[in-house]
Amino acid sequence: MWTRLFVLALVPLLGIGVVAIPQLVARATVADGTRAIDERVMALRSLVTLQAAVTAEIAPTEAALRAGTFGFTLAQASMLLGFDVGPRLETGRADVDVHLTDFARFDAASAAEVRRHADAWRSAFVAGATRIDDLHGEYLAALAALDAVGAQLVSDITAKVAATSGQVRGVVTATRRLNDAYELSRWARVQVDALFRAAVPGASKDTLAAHNDIVSAQARLEDALLRLHAGGSAELAQRLDAIAASAGVRAVSGAVARLVASVEPTLSMLEIGSLFRSAFARSDAYDGVVRAAADEATTLSALRRTEASSDLRRTSLLVASLLAGAAGLAVVSARSITRRLRPLAVRAAAISEGVLDGPAADERGPREIAVVAHALNETVAGLRQVEEQAGALARGDLDADVLASPAPGALGASVHATFERLAEAWRDREDLQERLAHQANHDLLTRLPNRKGLLEALDGALARAQRHGDAVAVLFVDLDEFKRANDAYGHHAGDRILQLCAQRLGAAIRAGDLLARLGGDEFVVVSERLGDARAAVELAERLIAVVSEPFEIDGISTHVGASVGVGMSLDGRTAPLELLRDADHAVHRAKRVGKGRVEIFDEHARDELEASNALELALRRALADDELRLHYQPITDTATGRVRGFEALARWTRDGKPVSPADFVAVAEQSDLVNDLGRWALATATRQLRHWTDEGIHTDAYVAVNISGRHLLHASFPADVRDALAGSGLEPTRLVVEITETVVLNDLVRAAAVLTELRSLGVRVALDDFGTGYTSIGHLWRLPVDVLKIDGAYVRNLGTSHEQVLVELMIEVAHTLGLGLVAEGVETQSQFDALRNLACDAVQGYHIARPQPPELVGARDVHGTG
Ligand code: C2E
Ligand code: CA
Ligand code: CA
Repeated sequence: MWTRLFVLALVPLLGIGVVAIPQLVARATVADGTRAIDERVMALRSLVTLQAAVTAEIAPTEAALRAGTFGFTLAQASMLLGFDVGPRLETGRADVDVHLTDFARFDAASAAEVRRHADAWRSAFVAGATRIDDLHGEYLAALAALDAVGAQLVSDITAKVAATSGQVRGVVTATRRLNDAYELSRWARVQVDALFRAAVPGASKDTLAAHNDIVSAQARLEDALLRLHAGGSAELAQRLDAIAASAGVRAVSGAVARLVASVEPTLSMLEIGSLFRSAFARSDAYDGVVRAAADEATTLSALRRTEASSDLRRTSLLVASLLAGAAGLAVVSARSITRRLRPLAVRAAAISEGVLDGPAADERGPREIAVVAHALNETVAGLRQVEEQAGALARGDLDADVLASPAPGALGASVHATFERLAEAWRDREDLQERLAHQANHDLLTRLPNRKGLLEALDGALARAQRHGDAVAVLFVDLDEFKRANDAYGHHAGDRILQLCAQRLGAAIRAGDLLARLGGDEFVVVSERLGDARAAVELAERLIAVVSEPFEIDGISTHVGASVGVGMSLDGRTAPLELLRDADHAVHRAKRVGKGRVEIFDEHARDELEASNALELALRRALADDELRLHYQPITDTATGRVRGFEALARWTRDGKPVSPADFVAVAEQSDLVNDLGRWALATATRQLRHWTDEGIHTDAYVAVNISGRHLLHASFPADVRDALAGSGLEPTRLVVEITETVVLNDLVRAAAVLTELRSLGVRVALDDFGTGYTSIGHLWRLPVDVLKIDGAYVRNLGTSHEQVLVELMIEVAHTLGLGLVAEGVETQSQFDALRNLACDAVQGYHIARPQPPELVGARDVHGTG
């Protein structure tokens, strides 16, 4: 009887030990795990929202500040950016505060840190433009802090999901999706910052780094998109497709492609404005994906939790009744057995609550009790192994011994499968990192090394050459007529040509030679152990020949050619940049002499340098001996025909022959000589105008003096202007300083500061040769200028529709920004009429008058004056 009862009591206990307890533990893990996952998912959701809010506050803040640097009002900045800056700023701040409070519920410390950064950037804003870099720094620091938290959350979520190991159907994929969506939003944001640095001149000193950041962000973006597409629901795929097809995203991708395709990425103002609007729209859309993924994950895990807890309740009831039955039977069966069973029951209950610690069950005693105790111990050991495995995975310790073999049972197998998946993901990530490292050094279009990759390789080649006493040749290959083909057949065809050129050049060089693309239509070949210059020329001719073969693109046959400049280091003791510069210099000469040629940086190049040095010396002497003169060309009001002012142009006669200003100014610009030239021109022109005024002529005209960028940035420049004004007694408002845009753009920040100082004196600034730089309009609103001088090339082509539209656009932009306008190089009446019809303010050119010596300008009433 007792024995039968005893055996009956054992049956349920065995059931508990072997079947119910692992289940109980798993269910409890699910309930616990999903709750922990949920909390982190919600934290991540809150974090992404906060990041978006931070960016939304910063963008208008920075825009307002940068515009302010150049004397623009908020209203003007708003117009350029396409949104109302003032109200945006207010709502931006309020949003950040709200989301900070929300995020603090999850991570008070990080929220406090972001709050500190926010306080700092807000006070940097109040301090004004002088602290704009601090402001950006605080913003980046806040984003970095949030990114770190985000990464931790994502890895926590992954680990927690792994720990629930397959028990949470759907949640694994949902959190993986969330992870990918988060990556998407993060890299989009990183890319916007890089775009800002690359596209907005002066926003960053290191455009190459910005360029690389754009590329690597793009790669990560695309990767996340791919994964989302592969592992996402149909609904998500649809949503992503819609985002990808949206005008905003297409505009961003287009801009990215263009920025990536050129070394000095540049965009017009209109493009920059719309690029940022598109980029923000894209970020909003991606953030929406994150929020949707977060919602999906929490909904799913809540569902699983409900299932799990009802399972848990059911199983608990079963266990409880079994235990109760067993206990009852046991009590009846034997006190001694009850005594032995009680600790086992307590232990089983503890395990069911997830407590695995504690002493092992005593396996001694009656055989049946030993069996139960043994089963319990086995279960605990299995669970412990699973727990350790999950821990190792969460730590990223893929080599841990515990991971070598699966723990017993279904739970163990499922953890092992998770481990395999994770290991695979890890390997993918390493692959990706390798690819990104490759991309930083390579050009996306042709897959060739880029400038950075080239310089690194060249460095290595020169070091080897130095050891072995070999020569290194650098062949600078510059395509001829590429721009024409690109303009005629479009960017797509242009890209294909560049890719085909890369292939042909790659096939023409020898094994061991390096081919790189510097950007645009410039390729460089580095050849080691080439022997002598003749071999280099032969190679160069081969390169020209392969590139000159016709290209078949979309059924159209087109030709480009190439010019090659060769720089050689005979012993490897040349610096990489210097060697590249020699080759560059040589290719420029090749182009000048006639296209399709090879030029070596050699005696001729050196002769050229010497001639230029001699010219410089003669010019220095002429300036000292006061042999230069200024001629004056009138600038006339189109509406009234009155002379508004004169441009002063330098003239030099060397040994009885006039030297073209373009030539001697270029030589002067190679040294500080150009500062002397500028100082002299400023002094002479202001004195001349003052003199006319004293004589009662041109009493309200201004004089425009050409100033080179080098002089502009020289420490003496502001004093040179003040000295000229003081020396002549001319009112500052009657002086205009002409600067070319390319020069200004090279160091926008410093140039802007100097020009702002000039303008505070009352001196006006004209932007010369406007439209000849790539980006002209793009930089206008950032520049402290008063007048635009539309380059003569546009005026010459006024008839053609393309140029016509550009001129109209320039005029419109100038008027919108409240800038004055002068069209240069007006040679005919019809050009004059066209410009007047376009409401161009003023004109200058041979049609009105040539530049003339002062005695003629003073003595005669020039054509067209009223
Ligand atoms: P720029 O500043 O663009 O000056 C206008 C040039 O166009 C002048 O050439 C002028 O003579 C020429 N021009 C005026 N009207 C017409 C026209 O209807 N048709 C054509 N085809 N040309 C016209 P110039 O005097 O030979 O000067 C060339 C460049 O040399 C100037 O271009 C300027 O960049 C530079 N330069 C001249 N004087 C100075 C100076 O004192 N200092 C500096 N730094 N540069 C100077
Ligand atoms: Ca000029
Ligand atoms: Ca000009």
